[in-house]
Amino acid sequence: MKVYINGRMVDEKNAKISVFDHGLLYGDGVFEGIRVYHKKVFTLQRHIDRLYRSAKAIALEIAMTPDAMSKAVVRTCKQNGITNGYVRLIVTRGVGTLGLNPYLCKQSQVIIIAGGIQLYPVELYEEGLSIITVGTMRNHPEAINPRIKSLNYLNNVLAKIEALNSGAMECVMLNPQGYVAEASGDNIFVVQGDRLRTPPVWCGALEGITRAVVMELAQDMGYTVKEDVLTRYDLYTADEVFLTGTAAEIIGVGVIDKRPIGAGRPGPVTLQLAERFKAYTREEGTLIE
Ligand code: PMP
Repeated sequence: MKVYINGRMVDEKNAKISVFDHGLLYGDGVFEGIRVYHKKVFTLQRHIDRLYRSAKAIALEIAMTPDAMSKAVVRTCKQNGITNGYVRLIVTRGVGTLGLNPYLCKQSQVIIIAGGIQLYPVELYEEGLSIITVGTMRNHPEAINPRIKSLNYLNNVLAKIEALNSGAMECVMLNPQGYVAEASGDNIFVVQGDRLRTPPVWCGALEGITRAVVMELAQDMGYTVKEDVLTRYDLYTADEVFLTGTAAEIIGVGVIDKRPIGAGRPGPVTLQLAERFKAYTREEGTLIE
């Protein structure tokens, strides 16, 4: 595997960055996870846009244009012969001192890794996930705003630990007001009849790209889609609940806090949307050539 580091394609074993990089020392940086389907980079522009918004939110200057960044992603996929896969795009604050001061970091670092991913075992897409609500809250928007896809994922890691320690693979995170925010690495939707609802980003959700695509596709399919404040009541009483994310795609939730959701397995709306999403992955994308 060849890894892109600051404009150079480096062999995997030589793909190294400094121990003084503030990405490592402080989780100071931003990232994106991007899918490749059928030799096309899926929703690339949306990921690049979010990356630059995240960077702006943390006052991180990326020393290349969004267009050059898109091209670098495509180039890395091409060099690695990726047809279907997963790209991790990382921008760190760069090398600095052992102090916090980000302004002493001279140059941000751009790293692009093109490989593969399988987040959940395939059978769980038919059976549904069993998840729990965890005590670890989503960050307050005036702390690290959850809209920032930063390298500082400890909040999510702590939530994930809680879930895993209870035998669940994912969790529902609430915000400091007690409203549903999202899962530790995915957005969440509830289905009631032909109505889909998902928490607005101000409730502590990342502005997920899969979430946005699903909202658009669902609307086209005739569903009513609404961003809404949700509590656990809405989850427990939903016909269906599903999660969305670049790596997870669309996965149904069968059980939350040991309570069956609807029939206790992915429902018809979830499965229909997953099917439509799959078709869309053939339609959309930036060709790797
Ligand atoms: N929420 C969090 C916390 C995430 O890390 C992610 C990405 N894995 C998502 C939601 C889903 O976002 P996207 O659809 O853009 O991958």
